[in-house]
Amino acid sequence: MTVPTVTLNSGHDIPQLGFGVFLVPADEAEKAVSDALEVGYRHIDTAAIYKNEEGVGAAIAKSGIPRDELFITTKLWNDRQSGEQPHDAIRESLDKLGLERVDLYLTHWPTPDHDTYSNAWQKLIEIRDAGLATSIGVSNHLPEHLDRIVKDTGVVPAVNQIELHPAYQQSDVLAWAAEHGTKIESWGPLGQGKYPLFENPAVAQAAEAHGKSPAQVVIRWHLQRGFIVFPKSVNRSRIEQNFDVFDFELTDAEIAGIDAIDPGDGSGRVGSHPSEVN
Ligand code: NAD
Repeated sequence: MTVPTVTLNSGHDIPQLGFGVFLVPADEAEKAVSDALEVGYRHIDTAAIYKNEEGVGAAIAKSGIPRDELFITTKLWNDRQSGEQPHDAIRESLDKLGLERVDLYLTHWPTPDHDTYSNAWQKLIEIRDAGLATSIGVSNHLPEHLDRIVKDTGVVPAVNQIELHPAYQQSDVLAWAAEHGTKIESWGPLGQGKYPLFENPAVAQAAEAHGKSPAQVVIRWHLQRGFIVFPKSVNRSRIEQNFDVFDFELTDAEIAGIDAIDPGDGSGRVGSHPSEVN
């Protein structure tokens, strides 16, 4: 199965479907990522704060898959944004991953009270220029944070990785991305199992109509909306199921029905708000 790719503003392609490892314990990460690579995933999303980069790296090394067939993302944690610390942080991440470079490096949260996210972005540019990250982007950045980093550096992030699922669509952040050519990555794409997405009639009816699971329908919604998505599971059959989403297509009416799940008042959010993470 060839997963579609999205071309980033760096000119590099990212597989639109990947595998996320948030909350995968360090001692389970190697197995989960090995399973994912075996199933066919080639894009892995980790972060320094997940404390499982070693396990991800061990799975990559054991897989024997050529490096240029893999797309590996990691993220700079919030307490390393100031001064020259991002340079140390990327080297530590690369060491744990056993890689010479990552395909994508992100600032994890803006932590606006510390006012260090613009410095962090400047350092990510240097890290990219030093060849340690092929593309660079941000996560959890709101339009005000995005405007600031672009004003300060002139460099537009390749991606913004945000909480995004049918119940929380962040239209203002999507509009900024569309205007600037930044690609959107959806975290918590299944609502982290905290929002009752799978029981929603729009999802359940589409699942029934296509003979697919509600999770597959939601993943398909992300793909058809053009988002980059990397659902997480440590369960082999779900890892397989979440990858088996290329043999059906939601109709425009089904997409519109799922779009309408967002209550529109922010109440569908299941994770932290970027203004409150400091
Ligand atoms: P998710 O929406 O992918 O939900 C994962 C949960 O959904 C699993 O624990 C499981 O309970 C359930 N699930 C998975 N597959 C299923 C299936 N087929 N059927 C039924 N239930 C299923 O949430 P997530 O892990 O938080 O998000 C995905 C990835 O996004 C993470 O692993 C991580 O890589 C990234 N992420 C980034 C940030 C950030 O701040 N940048 C925050 C959270 C997550």
